[in-house]
Amino acid sequence: MPVSPLYFDYAATTPIDDQVLESMLACMSRHTHFGNPASRGHAYGQAARELVEQARGQVAGQLGAVPESIVWTSGATESNNLALKGICHGMDKPGHLVTSQLEHKAVLDTAAYLERQGWTVTRLAPDDRGLIQPEAVRAALRPDTRLVSLMAVNNELGTVTDFARIGHYVRAHGALLHVDAAQAVGKVVLDVERQAVDLMSVSAHKVYGPKGIGALYVGERARPLLHAQMHGGGHEGGMRSGTLATHQIVGMGSAFALAGLLAEDEQRRIQALSQRLRNGLLGLPGVGLNGCAEQRIAHTLNLCIQAKGFNVEALASELAISSTSACNSASNAASHVLLALGMGEQQARSSVRISLGRYSSETDVDKAIEVFRRVIMAGASALW
Ligand SMILES: *Cc1c(COP(=O)(O)O)cnc(C)c1O
Repeated sequence: MPVSPLYFDYAATTPIDDQVLESMLACMSRHTHFGNPASRGHAYGQAARELVEQARGQVAGQLGAVPESIVWTSGATESNNLALKGICHGMDKPGHLVTSQLEHKAVLDTAAYLERQGWTVTRLAPDDRGLIQPEAVRAALRPDTRLVSLMAVNNELGTVTDFARIGHYVRAHGALLHVDAAQAVGKVVLDVERQAVDLMSVSAHKVYGPKGIGALYVGERARPLLHAQMHGGGHEGGMRSGTLATHQIVGMGSAFALAGLLAEDEQRRIQALSQRLRNGLLGLPGVGLNGCAEQRIAHTLNLCIQAKGFNVEALASELAISSTSACNSASNAASHVLLALGMGEQQARSSVRISLGRYSSETDVDKAIEVFRRVIMAGASALW
């Protein structure tokens, strides 16, 4: 069997941290906390409920939020759906929604759905560095703008949006701000109060937690307006019914707490690795960085490789990287994010996302640079 390719796709998903796994196992066997957290009448339910509430505090802590503002969901896709549909369906008539061309499909497709229901949608284009500028958001606000939805960190580019400044503009205007922060936890400072964020989507599996669990922060201004999308037993303050997945929730809580604890060290380490990777790859012929070079997280790099005969697939047996975001790859279309940056179809298709994480090492980075060098040079010499 061929050796497994080196993992450089942390932006698509992360493996579960061992510490997180341990916390989850403690709620999975019949000898431990298997009770239904909604069973208030007996000790089994109460024990599970305590764990769920502890996790709620851990997630809230990483967002600068109070625990009561956290609603459990199945992931950031559901959180984005709940935020957009929940707020828009809570209005007495359709209004105006502002988002951008760079958003995750979970926001773009939901916005398109709302558009079919009568909402007017503005999809902002990025500036020439691939950033959504706060001034552009401010200029797009109209008297009937109810909601602005933008991501904190772009999942394909790694660029960071100045959502705090946007938050203050949106708040002054009287609209609500939703931020998809799935790529931001543990990487950029999140503080919903100070940053004037009304709704924030997060996911566990991007932060070394399990797949299939996420949360939506619902601030005080958004809460009375949010319309449930999942009806049932009235769990989560009526905002999202369904028996809570104790083990998933506990895993997400410990993953978020761990992300907070490790943030500083991890930041420093990834910064150094990323610099090494960037220097190595940008030194190769025909390789350029997509998206703003400064206003970004270090973890994710998106590179355009314009070398003769180069094809992305040639890297795949040795490096686990993404040619488009994993979330788009069901369709196999060229990245809508790169096209929005003004790149041609061909350039977009010869771009790759390479992302670093907790278990990336200097040796891995050096090997990756070597693989890129070999594939690029092989493509070039094949044509001579
Ligand atoms: C991964 C991701 C999502 C989807 O999250 P899931 O938990 O996998 O549904 C949404 N938005 C962004 C920015 C992401 O990176």
